[in-house]
Amino acid sequence: LPNRLKGNEKSVWVEYIQLALQYKPLNLGQGFPDYYAPENVTNALAAVAKSANPLMQQYTRGFGHPRLVNAIAKFYSKLINRDLDPNKEVLVTAGAYEALYSSLQGHTNSGDEWIIIEPFFDCYVPMVQSAGGIPRYIALKPKSTSGTVTSGDWVFDRKEMEGLFNEKTKGIIINTPHNPIGKVFTLDELQFIADLAKKWNALVISDEVYEHIVYEPYKHIRIATLPGMYERTITIGSAGKTFSVTGWKIGWAYGPANLLYNLQVVHQNSVYTCTTPTQEAVAIGFELEMERLEQPDCYFRSLAMELLPKRDYMAKFLREVGMVPTIPEGGYFMLANWSALENKVKLHEETDENKDYRFTKWMTKNVGLQGIPPTAFYGPEHKTLAEDYVRYCFIKKDENLKAAAKILKRWV
Ligand code: PMP
Ligand code: GLN
Repeated sequence: LPNRLKGNEKSVWVEYIQLALQYKPLNLGQGFPDYYAPENVTNALAAVAKSANPLMQQYTRGFGHPRLVNAIAKFYSKLINRDLDPNKEVLVTAGAYEALYSSLQGHTNSGDEWIIIEPFFDCYVPMVQSAGGIPRYIALKPKSTSGTVTSGDWVFDRKEMEGLFNEKTKGIIINTPHNPIGKVFTLDELQFIADLAKKWNALVISDEVYEHIVYEPYKHIRIATLPGMYERTITIGSAGKTFSVTGWKIGWAYGPANLLYNLQVVHQNSVYTCTTPTQEAVAIGFELEMERLEQPDCYFRSLAMELLPKRDYMAKFLREVGMVPTIPEGGYFMLANWSALENKVKLHEETDENKDYRFTKWMTKNVGLQGIPPTAFYGPEHKTLAEDYVRYCFIKKDENLKAAAKILKRWV
């Protein structure tokens, strides 16, 4: 392995998906719906496969299929109240992953520092490091750990954040709504980060893949809309999350042309272009939803309404078995503290260094329920903060959530 990739050998997804295949637990691990995606997009994809236009099955424009970049530009122009140029201010990527990768490869010189908020979507760190950058960590910490804990209780220390910015800072990566906590960053928090980014002339990569999954009364705020921030922000989205089609692997980045240019250079020399039929279908999905944006049946609203009872049901059964869930304000993951159940788990039967890995592996093998160990989302220094937690995904059929409740209740 070349030096620049050393230290990045381990992936929680590779490991836990293999475990799930082997032990066949009820899978509340990896984040994906276990039920049908909305017909708007699946019908569109089926139609594209049989399209009268033979070019639908061939390469499309490298920086994004014209119909899709037009739809994305139109959609976000409305949301951020600024006219986006579909050809220069939007890039379609192979999932949000590639948007993150192209952003970090395209904007990192050796020794540049990126501020990363823990817990973080795990790929941020290997992406920063393989680009020659240095991750600087700051952890969200819960203000309280008993009673009703919500994702809003998890906050960063402002002095500590301030102290991380310096002349070597290239930028900060934020994720709102947040995976795995479900935190929806407040205007005040985003403004604080924005002011530091401006003060230190730093970039912001804003991972907003769960932008439409926000529970009332919380509101998703795009940091790119704060004064003076569009110029320094790359915002990232995902069709997988937006339309519940994680297997399609279509994502995008939008931002000012000069910043997106660097991503284009990475993209054109690696992925070059994304699949045409899925881009066409996602474009159709956007066009249809844009026509009914203000209506309750718009998927960008109905999805969160569909998930809310699932969230509440999960929180209830986790509490009933003695865990302390953090109620998420957005997204479809729930962090739960399982330390009250520690005496029921034979942690010594597993060999991993971190307790949450031992807990989740033991549960997968012996109880038949899979969750994700959240220390995977922390840098080396702060893993102990998350060892008593597990992450469960609740974008699952009601019957499977019920089955999960049953499995846990039978066990405790
Ligand atoms: N960012 C976050 C916070 C995620 O949870 C995910 C996982 N879907 C991604 C990025 C990657 O998204 P995609 O599947 O579109 O590559
Ligand atoms: N984003 C999803 C999650 O957090 C899937 C990530 C992955 O499979 N790499 O579970």
